[in-house]
Amino acid sequence: MSTINNLNPQRVFYYFEQLSAIPHGSGNMSAIAQYCVDFAINHNFKFVRDTANNVIIYKNATAGYEQSAPIILQGHLDMVCQKTPDCDIDFLKDGLQLYVDGDYIKAKDTTLGGDNGIAVAMVLAILESDNISHPPIEAVFTTDEEVGMIGARALDMRLLQGRRMINLDSETEDIVTVSCAGGSDFKANVPLVYTKRTGHTITIEIAGLKSGHSGVEINKNRVNANMIAGRVLNELKSNFDFSVISINGGDKSNAIPNRCVIILCVDNPDDICSFIDNYYKTVKNEISDREPQFKITTAVGAVGEHNVLNTEIKEKIIYTLLCAPNGVMEMSAEISGLVQTSLNLGVLITNTDSIVLHFALRSNKQSALIFLEQRLAAFFDNLNLKYETFGHYPPWEYKSDSYMCDLYCNVYNSIFGKKPRILAIHAGLECGVFAAGIKDFDCISIGPNLKDVHTVNERLSISSTASVYNLLIKILEKLK
Ligand SMILES: [Zn+2]
Repeated sequence: MSTINNLNPQRVFYYFEQLSAIPHGSGNMSAIAQYCVDFAINHNFKFVRDTANNVIIYKNATAGYEQSAPIILQGHLDMVCQKTPDCDIDFLKDGLQLYVDGDYIKAKDTTLGGDNGIAVAMVLAILESDNISHPPIEAVFTTDEEVGMIGARALDMRLLQGRRMINLDSETEDIVTVSCAGGSDFKANVPLVYTKRTGHTITIEIAGLKSGHSGVEINKNRVNANMIAGRVLNELKSNFDFSVISINGGDKSNAIPNRCVIILCVDNPDDICSFIDNYYKTVKNEISDREPQFKITTAVGAVGEHNVLNTEIKEKIIYTLLCAPNGVMEMSAEISGLVQTSLNLGVLITNTDSIVLHFALRSNKQSALIFLEQRLAAFFDNLNLKYETFGHYPPWEYKSDSYMCDLYCNVYNSIFGKKPRILAIHAGLECGVFAAGIKDFDCISIGPNLKDVHTVNERLSISSTASVYNLLIKILEKLK
């Protein structure tokens, strides 16, 4: 007999355990969507399941709330699947093994899927209850949030009457989120033209940088290894003759790259290596307070004939790494400390026929995001290089007169005797997709304390789940 079942609020943890028994990693949505459909059928609720496996369940208002504006309660059905190296769970067919550790629920050797199973569990408990007062509820369970908000983007917003929404995909109890960034991917392509050169190779490795998420950690002064590569090449250019064989840094557009490797072909490797070593000391001196582990190392290879980039391409690459915008572009004037617009050159890859530069762009303002796309486009147009913009997702812009936020703050204050922290984040939430599709959208994002999400140490606070569930019920009661 499971111990989870005895926890309070009992029905929330009952549903959380039920959901955890169903494999529901991103991309594997059919069974968990069916579970939600079966729930709707068993409780006689109207529902929609669309081709993306999103499920909407409609519940009528309780007595006295018939004239109230409907509320959308939203969470996502998929989880990130991570496990320890020796764990033999098959995420495609096995459920998770939940256990209680103090105030936390964890899953043995795997991610817990509290992100965002606890949202679904709370909403199912509200839907089944007959002693909570509430306006008409539109419960929206989206799919594949973790791999690009695929479900939310495919959702037909005309299925929703509600203009007010509570998204339950936040992870800190005393924070209410009121805005998120939109973003897009920008990929430029430098077609390679090679010439032959005979000489030594030098492998220059820039490493030891902190890295981090290109949204939420872009304001932490972390140094992008690809930008350092541009600096090193530019410094070399004014002092030596060299050719570039390849340059590779980073593997995800949304992570600040902590390593970049350049391979050169040169005539005088020793001079160049000692020059780089000196320049390394200069840069180290400049950034060591924020990047203490930063280092640049060089290794010389034997003499041979190599395919190297021709001069024009080499110049274009160096110019791009020096002058293309990167990092924080502007801060918000409305919300102190919030990065409004940023970008990150996360991936720089030398393929056989081209060098690809992949930027992740973000802004909490739609017009600023589009302007940033235009700036990059103008930059690469001017270099006569091809590029594409894709994966555009809209921001959820801050609304200074939000009824939902005011209500939440008042209810929170009445329960906890203090105000919650109001936060805007420079990363994506599904709220942005809803904001783009729903007129006069008014939304908050909240959730119970979840730690180390997306890792095998993910854990959900039991007491915090109880607090947030109570808060949610109180808010529903006030939405008369
Ligand atoms: Zn999530």
